[in-house]
Amino acid sequence: MSEKLPEAMNRIFGRKWVCKNCKTVMKADSVKVQAKKLICKGCQKKNFRPKKKEKKTIK
Ligand SMILES: [Zn+2]
Repeated sequence: MSEKLPEAMNRIFGRKWVCKNCKTVMKADSVKVQAKKLICKGCQKKNFRPKKKEKKTIK
């Protein structure tokens, strides 16, 4: 079994998100976060920010 996944897949689907309320780090894809389907396991809230800042800013 291969553990090597393409980095592109990891960037799109394996992003880490930090709860704005309790600082819990959650791993989820960005689609889920934008659709407000990611719920913090610590405080049950839906406010997250990306853990890493994007280098490219799309306006
Ligand atoms: Zn939280």
